[in-house]
Amino acid sequence: MKTNIIKQRCLHLYEADGMSAVIDFCNSIKYNKYGYCSQCETDVPTLKNECLVCGTTISKSVKQRRNLT
Ligand SMILES: [Zn+2]
Repeated sequence: MKTNIIKQRCLHLYEADGMSAVIDFCNSIKYNKYGYCSQCETDVPTLKNECLVCGTTISKSVKQRRNLT
């Protein structure tokens, strides 16, 4: 599945059913690139450092987040 299609699907799923629907979708296609989104305040599926839930650019990895806390 092309990444731009994944992104479109995720945005639509989020608008329709929220974050859990996006994560369920990513699980269903075995999409496993996750990162920490400061807007969502949780680990979310990411695409090219962009949160697939809210579209925010991810700049810090989960490891870096642990160092900050
Ligand atoms: Zn987000």
